[in-house]
Amino acid sequence: MGYPDTQLFINGEWQHAADGRSLPVRNPADGREIGRVAHAGLADLDRALESSQRGFVAWREFTPAQRSKVMRKAAELMRAQADSIATLLTLEQGKPLSEAKGETLAAAEIIEWFAEEGFRVYGRIVPHRSSLSTRQMVIKDPVGPVAAFTPWNFPINQVVRKVAAALAAGCSIIVKAPEETPASPAALVKAFQEAGLPEGVLNLVYGDPAEISGYLIAHPVIRKVTFTGSTPVGKQLASLAGTHMKRVSMELGGHAPVIVCEDADIDLAVKCAGAAKFRNAGQVCISPTRFLVHESIRQDFAHAVADFARGLKTGDGLAEGTQMGPLANSRRLSAMSELHHDAVNKGAKVLAGGHRIGDVGNFWAPTVLDDVALDARIFNDEPFGPMAAIRGFERLEEAIGEANRLPYGLAGYAFTRSLVNADILSRRVEVGMLWMNMPAMPSAELPFGGVRDSGYGSEGGPEALDCYLNVRAVAIAHA
Ligand code: NAD
Repeated sequence: MGYPDTQLFINGEWQHAADGRSLPVRNPADGREIGRVAHAGLADLDRALESSQRGFVAWREFTPAQRSKVMRKAAELMRAQADSIATLLTLEQGKPLSEAKGETLAAAEIIEWFAEEGFRVYGRIVPHRSSLSTRQMVIKDPVGPVAAFTPWNFPINQVVRKVAAALAAGCSIIVKAPEETPASPAALVKAFQEAGLPEGVLNLVYGDPAEISGYLIAHPVIRKVTFTGSTPVGKQLASLAGTHMKRVSMELGGHAPVIVCEDADIDLAVKCAGAAKFRNAGQVCISPTRFLVHESIRQDFAHAVADFARGLKTGDGLAEGTQMGPLANSRRLSAMSELHHDAVNKGAKVLAGGHRIGDVGNFWAPTVLDDVALDARIFNDEPFGPMAAIRGFERLEEAIGEANRLPYGLAGYAFTRSLVNADILSRRVEVGMLWMNMPAMPSAELPFGGVRDSGYGSEGGPEALDCYLNVRAVAIAHA
């Protein structure tokens, strides 16, 4: 199947940028240009803003049942087209087709869950103190038009978590989706269009990220800002939003510790953490990255993870049997090379990988480094690639101290058979999501988000809807 050029979606219509500009889209498996994406200018953004204001006025009057009907239809269309959408995703982003299909089908589940949750935006009646005949109510309203900024690692998932929650709450939304992976989020938007979403409720733009965020966040039409991406960019956008007093959700970077205790089931730890580490070539904000392993089992664990890494079939995501695709862009390839050389120069032992594969496409071999120095960059900067860095520890306190040393607090993992250890870890590891004796299993109904420099706000559970709602008190006395 062919890969389409991607247009902007404004006021219910697909369109070129007003000034005709576009950007190339490349297949990360071979670097070839496969299509183009429209590059919005300020005139396009002004139309998107006007349209989202009109869309909001219409959509906020829809009942939860009416919203749910449109959303469920969109979910159905995503399921029906999962194979073709997954192919687009793999072509532009690189992940294996099975992962791309999983992401597409998960979008349908997320939309359905939020479509239902929209029925449960309850207010409350609060007893009053005065002797007047008074009724006091707490009501929740949609916050208004939303500006959303999403990255290239999960081009559909990062958009759908924001769109589904915003729509269920009654908001309109302008999405600035990733320029490097534009066609699969456009397919998601098309599903909503075909499901009958009124024009203006959902708008899609691409272009210069800094120009678009600077313009939309400052604009009075926008009432809420939501961003997924790196911590440095998130801090810039949150500060701009603060200047304009806009509500904000930030889903930012992480550097997930994996604490493997001396009583852990090593096979389980290797299987869960290994699979999670190399999923989407490690370009996952909740990817396990800092492996902290009890000294008594470190050798066994490290060699087993290295065997796992060497056993992975790396290649074009569309090829049969591929388990790990290329990195999504050449920036990640350079980053892997720098992190690797820095770690090796500081004494790390290379147990697997540690090099680029071939000279076509962005392929980096699944890499396992042991004995990594604490001051190695890979133990401090979010790696966002297929590299596992391992260090040993003697006491659990030490591992917890290291887990909490960095300012990130997104995901964490632990493996232990001890109830006491599990309890201590659940209380003391400062992360928004902790998975013990299992791989990460995020789902629509579970809060998804970080603490500390990993951001605030949630992209799952009822808390995700709260991010798009104003809470207001209304009191009525008999006149
Ligand atoms: P980057 O930090 O410049 O960009 C990250 C994302 O933010 C991209 O989608 C980009 O389009 C967007 N962005 C950048 N500047 C922006 C701005 N001023 N306004 C609005 N959006 C803006 O660099 P990158 O090379 O694309 O990614 C590098 C790092 O970003 C990774 O190492 C990783 O740490 C982080 N990242 C995190 C996630 C996540 O899921 N949390 C996803 C992608 C990237």
